Amino acid sequence: MAEPLLNLRAVRRDYPSGEGTLAVLKGIDLAIEAGEMVAIVGPSGSGKSTLMNLLGGLDRPTSGSYRIAGREVGTLEPDELAALRREHFGFIFQRYHLLGELSALGNVEIPAIYAGRAPEERRRRAAGLLARLGMAERTGHRPGQLSGGQQQRVSIARALMNDAAVILADEPTGALDRHSGEEVLRILDELHAEGRTVVIVTHDMTVANRAGRIIEISDGAIVADHRVERPAAGTGAMAAKRDGFGPTLPTAPEAGLPPPDREEPAPPEPGGRGVGRVRAFAGRLGEALRMALLSMMAHRLRSFLTMLGIIIGIASVVCVVALGEGSRQRVLSNISSLGTNTLEIFAGRDFGDVRSAKITTLVVADAEALARQAYVAAVTPTVSSSSTARFAGKEASAQVNGVSEQYFLAKGTKLAQGRFFDADATRTRAQEVVIDENTRKALFGGFAGSPVGQVIFVGDVPARVVGVTQPQQGGFGSSQNLSLYLPYTTVQTRVLGSTSLRSITVRVSDTVATDLAEQAVTQFLARRHGAKDFFILNTDDIRQTITATTRTMTVLIAVIAVISLVVGGIGVMNIMLVSVSERVGEIGVRMAVGARQADILQQFLIEAMLVCLLGGVLGIALALGFGVAFSRLTTSFSLVYSSTAILAAVLCSTAIGLLFGYLPARRASRLDPVAALARG
Ligand code: ADP
Ligand code: MG
Repeated sequence: MAEPLLNLRAVRRDYPSGEGTLAVLKGIDLAIEAGEMVAIVGPSGSGKSTLMNLLGGLDRPTSGSYRIAGREVGTLEPDELAALRREHFGFIFQRYHLLGELSALGNVEIPAIYAGRAPEERRRRAAGLLARLGMAERTGHRPGQLSGGQQQRVSIARALMNDAAVILADEPTGALDRHSGEEVLRILDELHAEGRTVVIVTHDMTVANRAGRIIEISDGAIVADHRVERPAAGTGAMAAKRDGFGPTLPTAPEAGLPPPDREEPAPPEPGGRGVGRVRAFAGRLGEALRMALLSMMAHRLRSFLTMLGIIIGIASVVCVVALGEGSRQRVLSNISSLGTNTLEIFAGRDFGDVRSAKITTLVVADAEALARQAYVAAVTPTVSSSSTARFAGKEASAQVNGVSEQYFLAKGTKLAQGRFFDADATRTRAQEVVIDENTRKALFGGFAGSPVGQVIFVGDVPARVVGVTQPQQGGFGSSQNLSLYLPYTTVQTRVLGSTSLRSITVRVSDTVATDLAEQAVTQFLARRHGAKDFFILNTDDIRQTITATTRTMTVLIAVIAVISLVVGGIGVMNIMLVSVSERVGEIGVRMAVGARQADILQQFLIEAMLVCLLGGVLGIALALGFGVAFSRLTTSFSLVYSSTAILAAVLCSTAIGLLFGYLPARRASRLDPVAALARG
């Protein structure tokens, strides 16, 4: 004789309790044939639910043997058990165990999602099942909007979704009124008539009497097992499900249930099995994404607060990087306005040298000697002083620069009007002056004619304006400064009364590298002076120093950003752990209908990632908004966003979701289904 469909031999189930163990099932021997309808009765606490959970593969025996269609359950892995539940068992619980966030249709669909059915097909089947159970009008209702009887019908539809051969109903009418209870029992009768194996737990003898076989259980042991004569509900169909685990199921149109459109294993696709599997996986991934979105929407405030850490972290990173880049670009543009490949030679050992003002070793002869070097394109000695400039009753304090005619060439200064003074002017200490735009505004603001040709007073020295320079693009120091350019000979003799120089500016030939020129100048001057009593500022050096400084700043910022994101990530982990323990019941239900451990892991990981990713996107939006506000406040400076930083921020927040979501997700996936259901 063939082995019974469900076959228990000396099955024990012990629970650890305090020091010892509590024996709940004490050696159960039970065989249930395919197509039977069995009622299990007994007092509360006798072990009925424990037995049901064992029968349905939610739990495993502590000892003894349980074989389902010849397969030993004790040796199966959790995912193999999940596959068994998914494909062959349908659970109906006293408390329905529907997911409150999903519609009736959504609840019914779940088992098919884990079975990898196509969305179209499973929606059609779920709607069909609900319609046949009299729920056609309520497919979009949430469980909270349905009566107990209606909810139980939804849960029956869910049990039938994957066309289970065995229906396990644990006190399905326990929470229902008489009428609804009758309805549910009628449906179970129909399912039995279709050839399904139905096991129903009850403490109501009138319910039990509808079954063909009643098993009485007391204190963890079977005390009676008798078959009753009952009007044949579908004797013809009885044997039909003998091979119950085969892919086909006899259709029973008269039973009023949809013909189960269980598919034959799909015919090999052109791409082979792999393609189908990938598609099923992608489908489950899509569902996990949808579920994650749903649960985020259901807990909006909590999700937002979780995100807040990530939002602030990402926004500050993006902002600070943009600020750094903005200031770097500004400083660099200021430097380039200083002129390219110029060297500025100062007296003293470096900027901080207090004696530099008194050192008078840098002289005009040095400049003249340098001018004869092959690698030098232009040289100008510079002296400087500050003084008051006056014209027609207006006066302003100005920086007086004594330079040679080559200064403008060396610096690349451009004229707006007039001309520069020439070599003759330098030689003859001419009282000619080139003024800058600021000076023009200050002295000639209300003046009708051209400033060129007018005579201004520089201190007590009269000087004729010969040219006006173009406004400078930034430059070091305040752009409000007034600058005057006179021949250095004029300034030395008439303003300063001293022949020492402040500095010598050298423009290096375009064909010579600035570094080499700097070395050559250093050697040349050191030999002339017999000592290195000067220092050279190279604009390239300044540029490099600034670039290096901003790089250091960026590293510093990155470190702070990582710290803040880790703190945000820990917040995410914390909330995800809360979320998992809050949703233990949901996890139990998903496991009962056949979710793999990987499915649960995926769902919570995706949720964590989604929270972080959304937080990242909001953070970037916040940073961009800050940039707009910033540009309203000031025009002299702007944030420069780097797409690399933004991309890195998004990747970073996703990675944080993965990293910090993993622990909670793993905890969820490792839950014991029975314990999870009980806690839910
Ligand atoms: P019934 O469904 O017949 O009312 P149960 O099968 O739910 O009874 O429980 C039988 C006994 O097993 C009860 O005494 C209960 O306290 C115990 N029990 C059930 N689950 C657990 C568990 N996870 N840990 C410890 N004891 C349990
Ligand atoms: Mg029970």
